[in-house]
Parts: sequence; C-alpha cells; structure tokens
Amino acid sequence: MGRSAFFVRTFGCPVKCPWCDSAGTWHKDWVPDHINRMTTEAIVAEIVEADPSMVVITGGEPTVHDLSDLARAIRNDTAATVHVETCGAFEYTRDTFDWVTLSPKWDRVPLAANIRSCSELKIIVDQEDSIDRWLSFLSLSIGSDVLELEKPIWLHPEWSQRNNPLILNKIAEMVKTHGGPLRAGWQLHKLYKVDALDDRAAKQAPLGGNPALGL
Ligand code: SF4
Repeated sequence: MGRSAFFVRTFGCPVKCPWCDSAGTWHKDWVPDHINRMTTEAIVAEIVEADPSMVVITGGEPTVHDLSDLARAIRNDTAATVHVETCGAFEYTRDTFDWVTLSPKWDRVPLAANIRSCSELKIIVDQEDSIDRWLSFLSLSIGSDVLELEKPIWLHPEWSQRNNPLILNKIAEMVKTHGGPLRAGWQLHKLYKVDALDDRAAKQAPLGGNPALGL
C-alpha cells in the first residue's frame, strides 16, 4: 500500500459559503464546461490503481449523496481508509467512514449526533468572533462543553483572511489559552498550489465565485 491520499470531490452543494474555494461545485459562473460523471466501479478502479493509504471524500457537500456503496467498495477492493469532510448537517451512518472531519457552516448547521461522533472539527475563522460563536453553538448543541469531547478542533484562517493579524492573533490567543484540543490550522495545499499544479484538477474557482477575492 502506498502512503498517498486520494481525493474524491463530489459535485453539488446546498450551501453557498462566501469563502468557498470549491465554487465550481455550485456557482453558475464557475461550473466546469464538462463534468465527468463516474460510476462507483470507475472511481474504485482509479483508486485501486493509485494504491493510496487513505481516500478522502469531499465536496461540495458529500453527505447529500448516499456514499455507502462507494465506501463499501473502497473497503472491499483496497486497503485504504475512508475519510469524509462534511458540514455535518445531514444524516449519515457513522460506520460508513473511518474518519469524519466536520467543518460546520452557519447556513446548514450540524446535527448534534454528528458533532458527537465526528473524528475532528474544523472551524473556518473568517471573523474575529468566529471561534467564540462556534464553540458556543457546538457546546449548546450537544449540551456540554465541546472542548471536553477531547477531539481535535482545527482553527483555519479563511483563505482571504490569512494575512489578517486580527484573525491570526485570535487563533493564536485561543490555542495558547486553551491548549489542546484546539489546533492552529492552515490550508497548506493552497500555499503549495497543489491543485493548480495538477493536470487532472478542475479549473480553479475564486473564493465564493468572486474573482476579487482571489483563488
Ligand atoms: S465551503 Fe464547503 S459547504 Fe460551503 S459552499 Fe463550499 S463546498 Fe459547500
């Protein structure tokens, strides 16, 4: 088994986050000219050939689709673990996935059961009060302090705010104050331009579909 990650990006998303870097999945001006519709068998054949150690299913919002057949086929035909990144607003069977990254969105807030069962949380920090608001909401949803779940809670500066000292200072302050499970995150794939350098990647869409915000 290799040690790489294989990403499957599902198309379509019922949420429209202003910071979205996958606007090609929902913004009318950035929908690709051609969408390669693939069967489960075809996706799994590509995964088998790539021989990764993990498969990450992301979107759009992957859990608006029934992923059970795809996850089962990946587990049957490969040694890779199955990860998913979701906003957590939709019901899914937790056992379908080995790892669940829940990145909450205000337009479709996560279900309490999904907050409890996810492997880690990822908060996109686009405003100074984002962290406090989300920690408060998540705690209220599950009826106890979300920090006591002791699962990683990543704090990612929203990409257009990555040089904003107010945002970065807030993340640093929260991590220094609380320690684990809070973790300062960064969208490193953007820094390294891994999508732009990949011939097979879809054409990049600007944040929120707005060219003024950059990629
Ligand atoms: S950030 Fe995620 S949930 Fe939000 S619009 Fe983009 S793909 Fe959908």
